[in-house]
Amino acid sequence: MPYRAGGAYTLGVKPPRAIESSPRLWVEQGEHVVGPVATVAVVGPIDKVLSYSVPPEIADSLSVGQRVTVPIGKRGRIMRGFCVGIDEKEWDSSLRSIESLVDPESFLTPDLLELGRWIARHYACTLGTTLNALVPDAVRRHRGHIVIKRVHLAVSLQEIEAGGKRIGAKQRALLDRLSQSAEAVERSALLGDTQASPATLRTLERRGWVGVDAVRTPLPPPNFDLPGVEPDFALNEDQQSAVARMHAIIDDGGFRVLLLFGVSGSGKTEVYIRSMRRVLAAGGQAMLLVPEIALTTQLVNRLASRFQHVAVVHSGLTQASRSRTWSAIRSGEKKVIIGTRSAVFAPCPSLGLIVVDEEQEPSYKNLQAPRFHVRDVAIKRGHQLDIPVLLGSATPSLESWHNCTRLGHFERIDLPHRVRNLPLPPITVVDINDEYQETRGVPLLSRVLLAGLEETLRRGRQAVLLMNRRGYANWIFCPSCKHRMVCASCNVTMVYHAAVGELICHYCRRRLPAPDLCPNPSCRSRMVRAGSGTQRIEERLRQRFPKARIVRVDSDTMVHERSYRRVIAEFEDRKIDCIVGTQMIAKGLDFPFVSFVGVIGADTTMAMTDFRAGERLFQLVTQVAGRAGRGDVPGEVVVQTTSPDAPSLRAAVRHDYEAFAAEELEIRRRTGMPPFSRLTRIVVADPREPRSREAARLLAEGIRKVASELEASDVDVMGPMPCALARLRNRYRFELIVRCASAKQMQRLVDRIRGSRMLAVKAASVVVDVDPVSLT
Ligand code: ADP
Ligand code: ZN
Ligand code: ZN
Repeated sequence: MPYRAGGAYTLGVKPPRAIESSPRLWVEQGEHVVGPVATVAVVGPIDKVLSYSVPPEIADSLSVGQRVTVPIGKRGRIMRGFCVGIDEKEWDSSLRSIESLVDPESFLTPDLLELGRWIARHYACTLGTTLNALVPDAVRRHRGHIVIKRVHLAVSLQEIEAGGKRIGAKQRALLDRLSQSAEAVERSALLGDTQASPATLRTLERRGWVGVDAVRTPLPPPNFDLPGVEPDFALNEDQQSAVARMHAIIDDGGFRVLLLFGVSGSGKTEVYIRSMRRVLAAGGQAMLLVPEIALTTQLVNRLASRFQHVAVVHSGLTQASRSRTWSAIRSGEKKVIIGTRSAVFAPCPSLGLIVVDEEQEPSYKNLQAPRFHVRDVAIKRGHQLDIPVLLGSATPSLESWHNCTRLGHFERIDLPHRVRNLPLPPITVVDINDEYQETRGVPLLSRVLLAGLEETLRRGRQAVLLMNRRGYANWIFCPSCKHRMVCASCNVTMVYHAAVGELICHYCRRRLPAPDLCPNPSCRSRMVRAGSGTQRIEERLRQRFPKARIVRVDSDTMVHERSYRRVIAEFEDRKIDCIVGTQMIAKGLDFPFVSFVGVIGADTTMAMTDFRAGERLFQLVTQVAGRAGRGDVPGEVVVQTTSPDAPSLRAAVRHDYEAFAAEELEIRRRTGMPPFSRLTRIVVADPREPRSREAARLLAEGIRKVASELEASDVDVMGPMPCALARLRNRYRFELIVRCASAKQMQRLVDRIRGSRMLAVKAASVVVDVDPVSLT
């Protein structure tokens, strides 16, 4: 497929003059015509590319990747799409033609187009919708650009004079000025220099003596560079060897995935910086992806002071900044790209390294179609560009961890110690069952936690309290005998769902009615159900510590990026004593005066209806604990839970990721869950329950049939079953979980499903989520 970046696609055959008036016919051969045919991926729910003939008048300006409008369906409704291929072909009069060009050029570089193709296929999204997501709207609308008009002589001065028309004094001045310059002159400068009026210039234009071109030019991009501040410490030995390894990999060139496994406070950022510098020194661009805007604030400031030509890309940018930044990345002017999700699509012409910080973060998964995972897209992009990809984490995803032992191109680099040999903070677990026994009432804040907090505030140090409220489900426990509800086939704790009054196993999805009394025959105490949120905790703390400066940080209070930035700045300046928040505050932040960290309800994470609950709990406790004791003030962590024996929590208390990973991988192997398989989740939703249920049933049946046709013995279709959130926004939701042994297997199956009409079931919506990170 011929493609020229930036320029127009040049056709092999030029339209014969004689038939130019009839745009569709190029070279007639009997009934057939030979000419350029474009394949177009429509932006919308049409899951195939369509062919259109290219009319001669746009053929020279049409390039692959460019947006066009085309007629669709019987009635020829005009829709937008992307031209994804141009071929010389034979066609007949039944082939419709492209209606018009939407943009004057393609905003997709060949490598982004290729990446888009992979995403569309892997994540089962239409190609048009996928490509549409790769370029910010602000860019297509030319936000942050100005139009500069330039004037040039269209014919020579001699010719004009020979023409015999009267030339006025101002006209003469304009022509003289233009003839003195070899290049076109900016219109405003021209009028300024000559004191001629726009009307005079227009007259010259009308007479065909001068030409005026309008050129859209980006305004300068926002500047994130800060005065350079080099740190005064030297890298420790672990960092040095990590950096040396990275330099060797960068110098060798080629695709590789490095997992930088470093405990919190081990100085991973320094390894990122030195690796990125190596790439910049060789003339390349480097990209650093961070999971949430919350994390960028501190990191961006830190990085911006260490680099020049930094571009920051995140959802909080204004349209103009976004568009200007994009242009400056594409021109190569910006060398370092830091950003959240969509930054992975930055149009870098010379990308040499992609760094993915906190690679295990679920927020790397896009929640709308295309439902891609940024880490996996980054790896794919690295593969396509043949460059290294560096993943960093203190608590790697089990997928990446497992890949290091399984795949030759994955490699682990370890930073096992905190810098300056700072100790990891001790973690105390408070069993809420015991607390309940003694205080008669489900305590929001245990006595141990309150005592620790009081001491911290008394000494003028800072505290972070985390309440993971993301779990909507609550927990159920027997306070007397500590009986837990365990799934008979999976041997894992079942989770209580208040909405349906049931217990659900996160692994096999077995459901049980929630008992009122403890099932233990020798106990029979009343079971306790509990749950709470950040707001209640904030209120309680204000009553208890009226003088403390307490701020709540969750998605309700932090609507704008600037509110978050202000809180961070105030916390840094020690104008805030205690932050209470959701998992938003667990990660990345680096404050030297935090000496106390509390985790309230470490069970709500467990209550996420997900086989990854244990992994999430481990990550959460480890990350939030990592906020404590980063400076000279020693740290302390208190975790409140009703399941103090949960293996993942016990491993987190010991700061033992490897033990956690070994144990959890064993469970995954036994239950056949990722990384030992691939999942696709399909959610059917409709306002009418029977309709939703029936559509899900039909779909399950169809998929089972396709699976048997493929003779894929290790394909499993679980469901349909009601989703954990069984009714959302007035829609009844049913889910199917398709499990395959490998990604390749899944790809074949998904291709087949899309190739059939199967997904067009009668329901308001069908969402296909390949490699889901959450099953809610
Ligand atoms: P991580 O991302 O691994 O949690 P950071 O990169 O945030 O750790 O580093 C933690 C802190 O230690 C930062 O303030 C950083 O400037 C500092 N630091 C990094 N390397 C060293 C070092 N070799 N000696 C002293 N301090 C360091
Ligand atoms: Zn009991
Ligand atoms: Zn089970």
